[in-house]
Amino acid sequence: MAKTLDILGVEVKAVTGAEAIRLIDTQCDRGIPVKLAYLNSHTSNTAAQDPTFAAALREFWVLNDGVGLDVAATLLHGTRFPENLNGTDFTVRYLQETSRTWRIFLLGAKPGVAELAGQHLARLASRHCIAGVQHGYFKPQDAGAIANTVRDSGADLILVALGNPQQEKWIAQYGEATGARLMVGVGALFDFLSGNVSRAPEWIRATRSEWVYRLALEPRRLARRYLLGNPYFLARVLRKRLVATS
Ligand code: UDP
Repeated sequence: MAKTLDILGVEVKAVTGAEAIRLIDTQCDRGIPVKLAYLNSHTSNTAAQDPTFAAALREFWVLNDGVGLDVAATLLHGTRFPENLNGTDFTVRYLQETSRTWRIFLLGAKPGVAELAGQHLARLASRHCIAGVQHGYFKPQDAGAIANTVRDSGADLILVALGNPQQEKWIAQYGEATGARLMVGVGALFDFLSGNVSRAPEWIRATRSEWVYRLALEPRRLARRYLLGNPYFLARVLRKRLVATS
């Protein structure tokens, strides 16, 4: 049983990347489907305001994404997470390092982006094959039909890039109907893989400030998420700590 840390009501695995890969594979081998999500300050704030999302997350294996989670772990538990396991890097690393061979379905992003992302992924982790792709701008009433398309493709791993919290809600509602054994909510991964959105240079990532770079690229969409969301997350952490120590 992997150690977890409670981050404001969400149990987050406190494991290294290598341990996470081994644990995911072991669980899938037992025939128990794994739903994987990444928690960062923004998704934590979203879960606090959206009980359906918070409930969905309880079915997931949750990994830690970003510096905010380390600040929270330090203030609430006196320890940091062993490694930063953000969705963009860890999902690709998982596919490169797992000893399993997967048939992958890519669901999400704008039309054409998942195809390109799939081509890049096939080069980065060539042991797997791409079972199918579907863009993420479908009508809500088509969500069930898309689950059938995934099942008919024979995919056993789905990468779902519909943004938070829609991707985790889709996995919670339809994931098991797809027959997949591993389902991952991957956020903007297809945009990065396809080159549609550029990632921060390595030196910015090393300072764990990739969010500043994303904010600079898309200030209108992301200002609320980061400039209001980060202090709000910190305030929630501090309040929790004060309550715990009073
Ligand atoms: N997306 C989608 N359908 C939607 C909304 C978003 O497929 O209805 C896709 C979007 O094109 C992007 C991905 O979801 O590829 C992740 O969105 P976002 O950039 O918000 O991700 P995050 O910043 O949360 O990782």
